[in-house]
Amino acid sequence: AKERGGSTTVEFDESMRDTFRFRDELEKELREAIRARQFLLNFQPIVEAADPNVIVGFEALVRWQHPQRGLVHPADFIPAAESCGLILYLGDWVLEEACAAIARLNACGGRGADRYVSVNVAAHQFLSASFSARVGELIMRKGIDPANLRLEVTEGVAITDAKRTREVLEQIRAWGVKTSLDDFGTGYSSLSYLQQLPFDTLKIDKSFVADLDDKRSQQIVRTIVELARSLDLSVVAEGVEDAMQGELLAALGCDYLQGYHYGRPLAESEAFARL
Ligand code: C2E
Ligand code: CA
Ligand code: CA
Ligand code: CA
Repeated sequence: AKERGGSTTVEFDESMRDTFRFRDELEKELREAIRARQFLLNFQPIVEAADPNVIVGFEALVRWQHPQRGLVHPADFIPAAESCGLILYLGDWVLEEACAAIARLNACGGRGADRYVSVNVAAHQFLSASFSARVGELIMRKGIDPANLRLEVTEGVAITDAKRTREVLEQIRAWGVKTSLDDFGTGYSSLSYLQQLPFDTLKIDKSFVADLDDKRSQQIVRTIVELARSLDLSVVAEGVEDAMQGELLAALGCDYLQGYHYGRPLAESEAFARL
């Protein structure tokens, strides 16, 4: 612990105390928000690289409709929800709500019947004891086709516990649900664990897409696509903001594209109406 006395130390202490107070406050508000049902899901289209008019699915993205602060984005509350454990409740709400949305999507008939919804799952939630059973239960209870549910996890899960990650992936696969490795290229991924973990899709992180003018980023994308091919994984590039990026990513071999250029995250009815 630091000595009280020097002015820098006092400043440091006070800003730390503010941080903690803020965290405390945020945690209290998050609990209340879960109870008061202040969360909602937005849906962003994922399109075929070969024909971006074809929407193959949607990524579900959570938002917090805060009574005073308005629409709060996940970067401003997911980390806090993760560190205080509330992510388990929030994540479970997201999963259930996404399954209910899939039922509605599929009931639209026509093209809605074979489109999927992809759900972000935090490491802590994914590795929790009841996770795969809960996925199976929700599929049954909502009466949805498991092929229309996808789950996205980041490299963080495998780093936390590779053996357990593999078990859960296999249980999920047995339900018929596909999985994506999200934000690929940003973590500590070693290629050896990728080979051992039965993912279906790699999502190339948007930082590489934003940087495509740089020949090195293009080379990284090309390498990721080759790796994915050799492991029989499909590739989604995310964060595509203009037509040029999309065309380049398609030429580099990406199978699917996602980003503001093809559609922003939208409320459910608006998103599904775009089919
Ligand atoms: P992510 O999973 O990588 O999701 C993609 C993020 O990129 C979303 O931010 C999306 O709105 C944004 N995005 C989409 N297209 C573009 C584009 O063309 N350009 C740029 N710059 N950004 C684009 P969002 O919705 O703010 O979510 C941020 C992160 O919060 C997500 O990153 C994910 O890690 C986390 N998150 C969101 N929803 C959930 C959830 O339900 N559960 C959990 N555990 N995490 C979530
Ligand atoms: Ca994601
Ligand atoms: Ca991502
Ligand atoms: Ca991300």
